[in-house]
Amino acid sequence: MYKILSPTINDMHIPFVDLKAQYQSIQHDIDAAIASVISETAFIGGKYVQQFEAAFAALHGVTHCISCANGTDALYIIMKMLGIGNGDEVITASNSWISSSETISQTGATPVFIDCDADYYAIDETLIEAKITTKTKAILPVHLHGQMCNMLAIKNLATKHHLFIIEDCAQAHLSAFNGQLAGTFGHAAAFSFYPGKNLGAYGDAGCILTNDAVLAEKCRMYARHGALVKHNHQMEGINSRMDGLQAAILLAKLPYLHLWTEQRIAHATYYTKVLTGIKQIILPAIREFTKHTFHLYVIRCEQRDALVNYLKENGIATAIHYPTPLPLLPAYDYLKYQEEEIPICSAFQHQILSLPIYPELTTEQIDYIANTIKAFYQV
Ligand SMILES: *Cc1c(COP(=O)(O)O)cnc(C)c1O
Repeated sequence: MYKILSPTINDMHIPFVDLKAQYQSIQHDIDAAIASVISETAFIGGKYVQQFEAAFAALHGVTHCISCANGTDALYIIMKMLGIGNGDEVITASNSWISSSETISQTGATPVFIDCDADYYAIDETLIEAKITTKTKAILPVHLHGQMCNMLAIKNLATKHHLFIIEDCAQAHLSAFNGQLAGTFGHAAAFSFYPGKNLGAYGDAGCILTNDAVLAEKCRMYARHGALVKHNHQMEGINSRMDGLQAAILLAKLPYLHLWTEQRIAHATYYTKVLTGIKQIILPAIREFTKHTFHLYVIRCEQRDALVNYLKENGIATAIHYPTPLPLLPAYDYLKYQEEEIPICSAFQHQILSLPIYPELTTEQIDYIANTIKAFYQV
């Protein structure tokens, strides 16, 4: 099984993401953007932040973009300003990064976890209605891996039960459902620009999108110490701002987002082509009528941990998103979820594996990864 590959190709080192390669590809733009911020001392607020907000809102055809410090804050600020709090429940995915549930708790509300579906790893929309109670205030779908949730079903449920929808778009820049962009379905959406995200800053950054002018103003106020005008605090808030450097970097990167997204999709398509037919692995399925932007390329595989080691020995970095379903983490012991309540997610935690994917990945690298996987399974 542990066949040694040819020595030349064995020198390959494929990181999980390659942020340096991306920087080098647009170094001039980035360096110029950073230099401008410094020479103009536009560190907090200022024109780059305003320009980025306007550009990101326009890209989505949405009226308001409120920049903030990170994607986690974006989720928290939205829920807090929608009035979600003590005694309320918010329905969300079991398979996600902890931001999508810890922000529910931060407001004082309780996260209600739903299993993922067997094909797309997203919240299983067919299980939501049974979990709606008189306390339910919102549904928080997470477009995990860059794959859209079933927003038609979720919108119908939200309308029927008078619930808010808060989209977690941290992994779904430019993903679309029926041609409509992620972040335009709910009452508000949260985006993250963490460096490794499909649109990444050089530090933490995030934003909120909404068409609701009242909510937008509240969110902006809350994120800026409760004051839209300095010293005029209408309420107590928090300090959650995107700094000027991050805004200028994001502005410089934004024109490339479409290209990078197409490159990710092309790499995913190629992965699927060269990995098809290996019976020990299950490849990602794409939901009908959606654009999957492949923030992550996640397979399910036999002997996952041995495969991880074998790939590592051969210079290939991988990751697991996520090793433990949220409700089974120690942080949620108090909610007393059992594996049987989320059977799909629980089974998948031992099988899922994220392969390297980023725009700068090459066909040669994907071939090498695929050949290494085939060598492991001796196929
Ligand atoms: C990255 C991420 C977040 C949080 O974003 P930060 O900017 O790191 O706070 C929220 N939800 C999901 C699904 C994420 O992947």
